Amino acid sequence: MATQVPSILTLHQLEKLIPALQSRGYQVIGPNLRDGTIIYDVVEGLSDLPVGWTDEQEAGHYRLQRRNDEVLFGYVVGPQSWKKYLHPAEVRLMTAERSGQSFRILNNEPIPSRRAFLGVRACELAAIAVQDRVLKGDHYLDPIYAARREGIFIVAVNCTQAASTCFCTSMSTGPRVRGAYDLALTELVGPGRHEFVVEAGSDAGTEVLAELAPSAVSEAVYKEAEAAVERAASQIRRRMDTTGIRELLYTNFDHPRWDNVAERCLTCGNCTMVCPTCFCTTVEDVSDVTGTHAERWRKWDSCFTQDFSHIHGGSVRSSAKSRYRQWMTHKLASWIDQFGSSGCVGCGRCITWCPVGIDITEEVRAIRESPAASEENSHGKP
Ligand code: SF4
Ligand code: SF4
Repeated sequence: MATQVPSILTLHQLEKLIPALQSRGYQVIGPNLRDGTIIYDVVEGLSDLPVGWTDEQEAGHYRLQRRNDEVLFGYVVGPQSWKKYLHPAEVRLMTAERSGQSFRILNNEPIPSRRAFLGVRACELAAIAVQDRVLKGDHYLDPIYAARREGIFIVAVNCTQAASTCFCTSMSTGPRVRGAYDLALTELVGPGRHEFVVEAGSDAGTEVLAELAPSAVSEAVYKEAEAAVERAASQIRRRMDTTGIRELLYTNFDHPRWDNVAERCLTCGNCTMVCPTCFCTTVEDVSDVTGTHAERWRKWDSCFTQDFSHIHGGSVRSSAKSRYRQWMTHKLASWIDQFGSSGCVGCGRCITWCPVGIDITEEVRAIRESPAASEENSHGKP
């Protein structure tokens, strides 16, 4: 695609985006207020977005707050990620019905609608790329993920504010969006002003944008948009030093910090449920009481459940220590061996939604800075 020059849309022009996508057959998914959080669901217009709301986040803490403006994207990230649609929590793999001495396979997962994602943040775009490598990579293809991922139209949004739990700058994933988007917006709001600097990242994005009739953006306004994203970057206080992190974790298999975190961890699995890159699943078969109708479901699982590592004779990770260590070491170390990148994009969800406020950046720092961090602790890869 030819390099596209950024342009600018007024709020009124942006209102045409959702109808423009719908007229091309897309079901538009975007942020919605629900049960005191911002989740992702079908949106029919900009008024469905969390207009004038922001989120306050800390370790183990999340609250929505009213802003004193009408910003559309004035929050950071909520508990859900786009894996809700691409790698859903529950998928029916098969339905079978008995008929006499034989049975019939009735259907598999329905073909999903063509979807457009509105409001994808930089860390979330990076997380989709991570799941693409895992579930749509060269070696292993998950046909369910691939079918859902195919043809998604992505409207990304540059962050102009950060939550206290964000650390995308440490993971090189944000706050500016990079990579495969169709359109990228930067929202600018001030007295008597509400507009969006917009960049097209694909031919499909260019074509949709043309329908919205954007104006040319001045250099001064473009720099203002850049400065707003820089401001978000400067608000990020949490850091994770990723230098040699793979070796650090492999050589600290028996570090005492794992016992320390195990005393706090409830093994609830929240961190894996909210993580936009965690992908582990289990398969369950269910049948009705008459035994004539059976279904096979794939459901999210978690390395924090006992059953997840149950093999003949029992669970190989029976302690909280072994399960937390497995999660963090996989995410930050063995993921690199398996998929060529970190499994963490620095979104901070696992910090916010951990009921006891365990902070992955703090756990890495504790291992790195403790005198116990040593080659002598090496037991090889977990
Ligand atoms: S491990 Fe935590 S910070 Fe990293 S991507 Fe998952 S939820 Fe986000
Ligand atoms: S780290 Fe926190 S969210 Fe994750 S399993 Fe332990 S208590 Fe639950």
